[in-house]
Amino acid sequence: MSNELVYQALEEGEGIFNLVPNFVPRRFGEAGFRLRLHPDDYYPFGLKRGAIKERWFSSVVNVINGDDAPENEGLSYVALHSDTNKRFLFKEAVEVLGAKLIGKELFQEYGTWPMFAKFFDYKTPLFHHIHLMQHHADLVGKMAKPEAYYFPYQLNNYPGEFPVTYFGFDASVNLDEIKERLLQFEETDNRITELSRAFRIQLGTGWYVPAGVVHAPGSYLTYEPQWNSDVNAVVENVVAADHYPYDFLVENCPEDKKHDIDFILSLIDWEKNTDPEFRKHYFRPPLHSAGQNGVFEEKWITYGNEYIAAKELTIEPGKTVSVKDHSAYGCIVIQGHGKFGIYDAEAAQVIRFGQMTSDEFFVSEEKAKSGVVISNHSKYEPMVILKHFVSNQDVPKA
Ligand SMILES: [Zn+2]
Repeated sequence: MSNELVYQALEEGEGIFNLVPNFVPRRFGEAGFRLRLHPDDYYPFGLKRGAIKERWFSSVVNVINGDDAPENEGLSYVALHSDTNKRFLFKEAVEVLGAKLIGKELFQEYGTWPMFAKFFDYKTPLFHHIHLMQHHADLVGKMAKPEAYYFPYQLNNYPGEFPVTYFGFDASVNLDEIKERLLQFEETDNRITELSRAFRIQLGTGWYVPAGVVHAPGSYLTYEPQWNSDVNAVVENVVAADHYPYDFLVENCPEDKKHDIDFILSLIDWEKNTDPEFRKHYFRPPLHSAGQNGVFEEKWITYGNEYIAAKELTIEPGKTVSVKDHSAYGCIVIQGHGKFGIYDAEAAQVIRFGQMTSDEFFVSEEKAKSGVVISNHSKYEPMVILKHFVSNQDVPKA
């Protein structure tokens, strides 16, 4: 990869990159088959690596995905507009362009693009797990991971086996009850969600989950903006017929703490987990952000936290808009077709593994501020785009 190629791509794209679909296999859970990937292509790496269950967007981070994962798994690639076979890592683009791509503020504060988003596509529910808070992540040289969910209609023609998400623990539960379940981790099914509380997933809405809050995501396809990190502690050992070894509970604990039950319990932010008003504080119904009747509407779908934000932009048939944002962002077209800046843009229908698409973009800060011109070329269907950001001053508080 030469630096010239990065500059050429930014120039040709007039401040916007076209990204290559970035599919991720997982060995746990069952695939939901809602990623618009060709049904024959869900095992591109063979059965032992598991089916494709996620698609990652604008990612500069690797997946922690076992010893046989290829070196660049999880990292997004940019394709040159004039020759899509010429590609480079989005991560390299951030390194080469720095503030020119992501803006001075973000570059000075983080030195990189600090978030990404994914489509999370499981037919089965995921284990009840926590992402470490910063003071625990520091002990193993990692970062905390706050995350958010949004459930788009366009990718959810069926709900999977369990469209219900558990959060935290019921306010009546005490720490000794949790301790007892964790001590059973290697003995028997600890059924820890018996102590939790769950909400049925409502399409077109979302949630915010701070680090330190336990959660067991349900089986709808989820658009998930999150911080650049992958540090779990899995507190549920049997889920949807899968069994999880003790290491899933303690893999991000320091060596000398792996059998220290009080340390493991301290990973749980007790106050937030047992908040009796959990829904009031963390449910995220969409909030109107901008619009013009009959032309377009933009809604905040992730907001009310200091890390991550996302919007859903809908453009009515036949309309053209110039949309401005305060900062750089990644985005994915989930419905319709038309133009996005200089690019022909279209929601993918059936993607062959390895094939290029024109549904994913990254917009530089300068371009975001001056405005991206987007046209919907359909006569009847809206064009819908999900956009993910680092939280900034424009984002509603909650
Ligand atoms: Zn999680």
